[in-house]
Amino acid sequence: MKHEHDIVIVGAGGSGMTAALYAKEGGADVGVISKLHPLRSHTGAAQGGIGAALGNEEEDSWLWHAYDTVKGSDYIGDQDAIETLCKDAPRTIVELEHYGVPFSRNEEGKISQRRFGGHTRNFGEAPVRRSCHAADRTGHAILHTIYDQCLKQDVRFYDEFQVLDVIMTEDGEECAGVVAYEILTGEIHTFHANVVCFATGGYGRAFKTTSNAHAGTGDGMAMMLRKGLPLEDMEFVQFHPTGLYRLGILITEGARGEGGTLHNSEGERFMERYAPTVKDLAPRDMVSQCIYKEIREGRGVNGKDYVNLDLTHVGTEILEEKLPEISEFSRTYMGIDPVEEPIPVAPTCHYAMGGIPTDYDGQVERRERGTSVPGLFAVGECGCISVHGANRLGTNSLIDLVVFGRRAGMKMAEEVEQGRQKAPLPENPEKPTRDELDRLLSNTKDEGEPIVQVRSELQEIMMENVSVFRSEESLTEALDKIGELRERAKNVVVEDKGKQFNTDLMDAVEIGFMVDYAEAVAASALYRTESRGAHSREDYEERNDDDWLEHTLFYSDTEGDYEFDSKEVTITRFEPKKREY
Ligand SMILES: Cc1cc2nc3c(=O)[nH]c(=O)nc-3n(C[C@H](O)[C@H](O)[C@H](O)COP(=O)(O)OP(=O)(O)OC[C@H]3O[C@@H](n4cnc5c(N)ncnc54)[C@H](O)[C@@H]3O)c2cc1C
Repeated sequence: MKHEHDIVIVGAGGSGMTAALYAKEGGADVGVISKLHPLRSHTGAAQGGIGAALGNEEEDSWLWHAYDTVKGSDYIGDQDAIETLCKDAPRTIVELEHYGVPFSRNEEGKISQRRFGGHTRNFGEAPVRRSCHAADRTGHAILHTIYDQCLKQDVRFYDEFQVLDVIMTEDGEECAGVVAYEILTGEIHTFHANVVCFATGGYGRAFKTTSNAHAGTGDGMAMMLRKGLPLEDMEFVQFHPTGLYRLGILITEGARGEGGTLHNSEGERFMERYAPTVKDLAPRDMVSQCIYKEIREGRGVNGKDYVNLDLTHVGTEILEEKLPEISEFSRTYMGIDPVEEPIPVAPTCHYAMGGIPTDYDGQVERRERGTSVPGLFAVGECGCISVHGANRLGTNSLIDLVVFGRRAGMKMAEEVEQGRQKAPLPENPEKPTRDELDRLLSNTKDEGEPIVQVRSELQEIMMENVSVFRSEESLTEALDKIGELRERAKNVVVEDKGKQFNTDLMDAVEIGFMVDYAEAVAASALYRTESRGAHSREDYEERNDDDWLEHTLFYSDTEGDYEFDSKEVTITRFEPKKREY
């Protein structure tokens, strides 16, 4: 079946729906395709808050926010984009409030703000209250509100349609649309559009321990690679310091923002040693690395590979009012009441700093700034502008979704208004997708193996070899394994041969995507021979600005051959210096 829209957006999380809303307000006809119901997008799981220098609790400024973000990025975030983000953040929060987001309030009735890792007053002097929140269910509140606004504006939604291919023109230069699989019926649909925008979210599911939902399988990023387009800075994978031990379920940094502290087996508040100024509110890359150091040096609690997050002194009132969700998670999944006992935590794979390279209107780029792909945009976690560089600060993803989602939405509507036409579809655009699905369905048990087998081996190797600490040895081993898994992923057996709700078949497609971007992560990590932000190489422990103050671009034929290019980092006001907290 064929559909036509001015603008087609793939993904209905916070970024996709914000882009849809503004594109629609800009007069365009917009279709949003999502493999999940929009309200099940991972944005709905965001807990702790959304960052903006409103100064509701104490003095703050967008420039301090920008400085913290640049420093947090280990000086590899693009400063022009970061300035845009931080300057536009306060206005965006007011707009969200006017749309109806039920933010928590302080005693004066203003939007309540709390502390978060790496956010400081006056260029690093002390932690500042910058995170606006709706208890610890901020993403849920934002996602519901934006969805309501989209419905009000008559955005057309295609729920539970999974996009499997992006359609480029015959010469590969322009984007013409996407091909999607309707999960309910098994039918294939072609979407022809003047502009396509990817908003498919992150890829945490390639790691064994992750805070990400099951849908975080990096589909959009892998689809770009398959069209010969690059992925930027894929080596930078964020591990959040406080996942529930063994489960990876997130305990928001807001818990430390409200006064929670981390302790090793000796009861020591160890972050005081590593980050004397901000202590437990150091940025995530640092805290995760410190937790592993404590564990390696034998100070994991009970001799195990976790530390304790102590909230017992925070008080029942704050736990109930400001941290109800994580308190409940702790009781339900660990049987631990945070009022009484500390929570066992360990780092969990959380966020993709890298992704599809874009400018700060969301236009996808091939190489340097200004080399955009006509008709193709990307926003949200699947994109890389780059505002997060080598390490994202907490609360900066939600604000990224709305600030840059809005800009992309407006830019796309403008392109349509200024006369951008639909690029011609190639002959039979659905054929590659149909052939691939038929091939997967015809795999037999003699040649292939269960999907779960390949997926768990991928998750194990990524967790063991490509997580917080990496080395040439661990990464080379991971790449060899990924090469082997790529072949095995082609032969996985799809047990369900039916048409209706065949999620088994979609799992088989996803494992193919996962292998492709896992290779991008491991290969980029091997390529960057320095330590910066979340990328910590045991064989190159120092940051090396002489050779590596640049973005990596990874290109692949998705058959094991790949190459790199680099892209300049934009520096406006903050010259790189040693990062201390
Ligand atoms: C547990 C948790 C807590 C977090 N807390 C915070 C926080 O407090 N503050 C903060 O700033 N950040 C937080 N983050 C990070 C932030 O929530 C995410 O980075 C952000 O929500 C991603 O939004 P998105 O719009 O890019 O994608 P998502 O919200 O992940 O949505 C992706 C969308 O793409 C669709 N999709 C994917 N693949 C396909 C396909 N092939 N075809 C069709 N549709 C597809 C999905 O259906 C979905 O609608 C948190 C993340 C997690 C996991």
